[in-house]
Amino acid sequence: FGNTLANKVIFVTGSSSGIGEQLVKDLVTLGAKVVAVARRIDRLENLKTSLQNAPGSIIVKKLDVTIENDVKKVVREVLAELGHIDILVNNAGVMYFTLMEKYKLEEWNAMINVNIKGVLHCIGNILPSMLHSRRPGHILNISSNAGVRPFAGLAVYTGTKYFIEGISGALRQEVSDRNIKVTCIQAGDVKTELLSHSTDRDVVDKYDISKAVPVLTTKEISQSIIFALLQPSHSAVNSILIEPPLAS
Ligand code: NDP
Repeated sequence: FGNTLANKVIFVTGSSSGIGEQLVKDLVTLGAKVVAVARRIDRLENLKTSLQNAPGSIIVKKLDVTIENDVKKVVREVLAELGHIDILVNNAGVMYFTLMEKYKLEEWNAMINVNIKGVLHCIGNILPSMLHSRRPGHILNISSNAGVRPFAGLAVYTGTKYFIEGISGALRQEVSDRNIKVTCIQAGDVKTELLSHSTDRDVVDKYDISKAVPVLTTKEISQSIIFALLQPSHSAVNSILIEPPLAS
């Protein structure tokens, strides 16, 4: 990329809160052309309004990444409007603390649908256009420290993030000689809405260590992502593991 994000077209999923929202703010401030997608379009519209005087630009679109046809449609619209997508940030994700013995199938499926299938839908619909454009490309997947070691109470979530690590490594081997980078951000606990969805309070109380240790802010994660995106073409940051100092 040289080392500027100005005018890069960057597609960010899960932009309506937390890490995605902060990242969109920082990217637009750096002059990027950001496509911000999520289901809560009202929040995206507010984000757009807050960035109207920033150097870059922002297009917002309502998108549920679990619905493949909708992903296809939105990607087609963006390509028609902007010509190409330089960078895909697969950030949308959900996490439920559940014990395996409780067989919370609905919550397990939600994690599989968003964290796995949603990522596949976005890569599958965007990667061909990246390769076709012959421009340098970058796919950045928001994994987790649960993508490199398991956490009790988060078995299925851990599984979804190991999946992300697996496909990222394989994809990197498929496309690195065609000027596409693949990066995983392995984040520890970050203060966002992510922890608020779990229904089993006992499990949260037992295993959620974020109450006991300091947690990261979305700004630190956004800065890590931007560090990876700003590398010159001869440097590929394959993964960044970033955790609070006391995480174990
Ligand atoms: P938030 O809950 O704040 O953000 C999650 C985002 O995902 C929201 O914008 C939400 O938007 C979007 N999303 C959820 N379901 C869908 C869907 N079906 N289609 C489209 N978008 C969807 O949490 P975080 O910012 O913390 O999470 C972002 C990523 O970071 C996730 O992948 C998470 O696993 C990862 N992560 C988070 C950590 C943490 O401690 N917070 C640690 C490690 C990794 P909407 O509801 O509007 O659709």
